[in-house]
Amino acid sequence: MRYFSTRGAGPVDLETALSRGLADDGGLFLPEELPAFDASDFADAASLTEVAQVLLEPFFADSRLAAGLPAILGETFHFPVPVQPLAGGDRSILELFHGPTAAFKDVGAGFLAACLGRLEADASAPLTILVATSGDTGGAVAAAFDGRPGMRVVVLYPEGRVSARQEHQLTCWGDNILSLRVQGAFDDCQALVKAALSEADLSRFYRFSSANSINIGRLLPQATYYAHASLGHFRATGECPGFVVPTGNLGNALACLLAREMGLPVGPVMLATNANRTIPDYLDTERWEPRPSVATLASAMDVGNPSNMERLRHVLGDAALLRDKVDVVAIDDDAIREEISRSYQDDGLTLCPHTATAARAWRDMSDNDRASAHWILVATAHPAKFETIVEPLIGTEVPVPPELAAILARPSRSVPVEPDLDAFAAALRAAFD
Ligand SMILES: *Cc1c(COP(=O)(O)O)cnc(C)c1O
Repeated sequence: MRYFSTRGAGPVDLETALSRGLADDGGLFLPEELPAFDASDFADAASLTEVAQVLLEPFFADSRLAAGLPAILGETFHFPVPVQPLAGGDRSILELFHGPTAAFKDVGAGFLAACLGRLEADASAPLTILVATSGDTGGAVAAAFDGRPGMRVVVLYPEGRVSARQEHQLTCWGDNILSLRVQGAFDDCQALVKAALSEADLSRFYRFSSANSINIGRLLPQATYYAHASLGHFRATGECPGFVVPTGNLGNALACLLAREMGLPVGPVMLATNANRTIPDYLDTERWEPRPSVATLASAMDVGNPSNMERLRHVLGDAALLRDKVDVVAIDDDAIREEISRSYQDDGLTLCPHTATAARAWRDMSDNDRASAHWILVATAHPAKFETIVEPLIGTEVPVPPELAAILARPSRSVPVEPDLDAFAAALRAAFD
């Protein structure tokens, strides 16, 4: 399989697309064609890793990673990804939060780390992955690369602007992970990563790379849980389930839509955003108007310029076409709060603020939409990660799951750094040389 940029550059092979992340022309990599499946292709595949193997094989064809795909999937899915039926029988919940940092980004980060680990196995100097984070991404990437030979991660996060539990997940790793608490905002962290990547000598010396959410290696494995969940429902009932997907940068939602495009039995898809309305406004007005993000309770979805829209338009078409293929609703903070309380009281469900956008989107559906499918709500994070928001709303403590408890019990360490390139370079020398 060859990969092209959404802006035309290419083709490149899978290895190159994984290593570069972003295409040279600034576009995002997509496979030259989507493989076509029907449910019978998965007749012998029951578990998530078996389904994933069938689904991803064509994307790995001709790659030197092809023979390693089963092992890569085994390393990625070392935790369960269950679909739990909800009381009443008309909804289920797809729990993506059983990984090491209790959020769905563990899937993409784990898969990318397993791929790059194999590509880097013979390198003479370590690869240094830079990741600027406002909270969730950095922890998932650090967990995925922790202890991997030949690879280092530098996490940059804004001091004082992430929650205590998030900070712990950014700072509790081994010697190949350097956690920098930047004396500034998230934008300063991002600017520092950009500056470092474009400083030629430094970049060559440390072999800098980035692991942001637009890497195709984070997108592909996310399609597998939609394939597995939809096949499970289809086999049991003969019907295609719908999905409600909490959406920020559109990676998770795109993976769901790609699964449907490839012929998996995915029914209607509804995206739930928070008060950042760039995507719903685009479908309403047909004008693409990215804007600065606004802070919400569902902070991992605070995205004003969702970069995967470039891929979505490439695959599914512009607003007028998209509108027929997907619904989008925006859920503001008041509605998120209400939903967390109500789901707890009425359904005995404890939801994180991101997952609450999906639950609320389902609650607000018309009777017709609701009856059009068995709906699977996508749960993107464990509520214990956002306990300061959730606990006051439900009036009780959220038990911490064992994976998260294990991380919170580890010692934490980080290095303060001023937001400038010289200070950044000095911190790297002190840690790695
Ligand atoms: C990143 C994230 C999202 C948004 O996912 P996208 O792929 O960026 O749309 C939703 N929920 C949680 C908990 C996240 O960490």
